[in-house]
Amino acid sequence: MVEPDLFAAEYQALVRARETFAVADGGEQHRRMLGELMTHYERLMRETRRLIQRSDRAEREMQQLNRELQQLASQLQHRASHDPMTGALNRGALIDHATHLLQVESVGLIVLDIDHFKRINDEYGHPVGDAVICAVVDCLQGHLPRTAVIGRVGGEEFSIVCPGIGMPQVVQLANTLCSAVAQVQHAWPITRPVTASLGAGWYPCGTTFPVAYSRADAALYRAKRDGRNLVRLDMH
Ligand code: GH3
Ligand code: MG
Ligand code: MG
Repeated sequence: MVEPDLFAAEYQALVRARETFAVADGGEQHRRMLGELMTHYERLMRETRRLIQRSDRAEREMQQLNRELQQLASQLQHRASHDPMTGALNRGALIDHATHLLQVESVGLIVLDIDHFKRINDEYGHPVGDAVICAVVDCLQGHLPRTAVIGRVGGEEFSIVCPGIGMPQVVQLANTLCSAVAQVQHAWPITRPVTASLGAGWYPCGTTFPVAYSRADAALYRAKRDGRNLVRLDMH
């Protein structure tokens, strides 16, 4: 379909003005033509302003839609990679993150499991258990170095990945986390301390994540076996 020419009347006025201009010594005819040209020129300006306003509005709306789209995309990305209950990375995202880090640098890895957690669920119910898990994660988050990342790899099992630190700092961090968790004041009806057991190791660049994880997890198993509320180390 051919678009109607918005300025057809102005074009016709221009054609007539050219014809009138060609007449030498036009007198009154020239004056009338000049008046007509002024009218059309004013309309041209009005229409141009209106079009500019309309296109500015469309651009602002498009920018707003773009911002909303970007927000939605980052919300979606956050949901896909985080555990909704605790805000920690989910299992898949933690594994991806650790796998990538281990390809480029050495990594400290701490695995943590809450002690006797089934009893908490059995005695107080699942929602209280959930609140305990969240309080433990908040405590852990508050004690992590800036570059460390925590992921929920199971119900009440967490992994902490710390790039750029050596074995002595991994040991120190694991001990700090162990005593911090035991000192958390939980909301009623939890009156006893809730503790966790931790396995920790340091893994050179090039170690695969399954190898690092199974070694740190074996250390965690030893911490459970040795009495819980303990850190055990993977010394290779
Ligand atoms: P241990 O000291 O050997 O770790 O004993 P435990 O009782 O903590 O044993 P385990 O780690 O195997 O138990 C984990 C329990 O956590 C089992 C499951 O019912 C519970 N659980 C898993 N996910 C959730 C959750 O999201 N919320 C709650 N409330 N409980 C969960
Ligand atoms: Mg447990
Ligand atoms: Mg467990």
